[in-house]
Amino acid sequence: MKKIQIAFIILLFGITIIPLFGQTIYLTSEEQHDIIYMLEEEKLARDVYLTLGEKWEAQVFQNISISEERHISELKGIATRNNLTIPETVINDERGKFQNETLQNLYDELVSTGNQSLIDALKVGAKVEEVDIKDLEESIENTRIQGLKQIYIRLKNASENHLRAFVKSMKKQGLDYQPVLLAKADFDKIVSPENVKGACCSDQKGKATCKGEKGGNGNKACCSSAQKGKGKGCCSKPAG
Ligand code: ZN
Ligand code: ZN
Repeated sequence: MKKIQIAFIILLFGITIIPLFGQTIYLTSEEQHDIIYMLEEEKLARDVYLTLGEKWEAQVFQNISISEERHISELKGIATRNNLTIPETVINDERGKFQNETLQNLYDELVSTGNQSLIDALKVGAKVEEVDIKDLEESIENTRIQGLKQIYIRLKNASENHLRAFVKSMKKQGLDYQPVLLAKADFDKIVSPENVKGACCSDQKGKATCKGEKGGNGNKACCSSAQKGKGKGCCSKPAG
């Protein structure tokens, strides 16, 4: 009887000790691969935007590249904490260089297309975000670690914001962008005003912008999406 009790206590202790000392979570090879792949993919987004931003002097690229820089740091932190080998290309931070061949080819192709005209560059921007959304969706599916899922979901929300920004820029240039990778229904959902987090900010042409929103007049406070549209007079803060 005593033995059973001790075994029971050890079992309980064994279960609770993992979350208490957190870091001993086992990553599958697929989870490890996804972290490194997404790290280089965020670098691809930043490098494409820096290059095309310089070429066309369009602010949208500069703004979004700052957000991609944050995503790189975040994934680099996760890779470091989990003792994953960070690609040399990321460590050396050489623009336009990638360890992964698929990403290297994609970068070369995107920059050569984006160099043709500003509209082509904006289309490239939207395509990069579509690629990100698709790959992040896969990474979300591939992991059972809640913390990692949450990080990917945040990155995906940011990609959806970036996609909207590129679509909006193309609209200003008279182009109605159509998705090249995402299903039309999914794309429409992302760009439809009802689904835009912070829509009450941008949609009211500066009358009700969030505090802290770029170009905003700070008339309204940022609030959670749950409060949005419920007459509380606030905007949700766009993810970035
Ligand atoms: Zn990103
Ligand atoms: Zn992005």
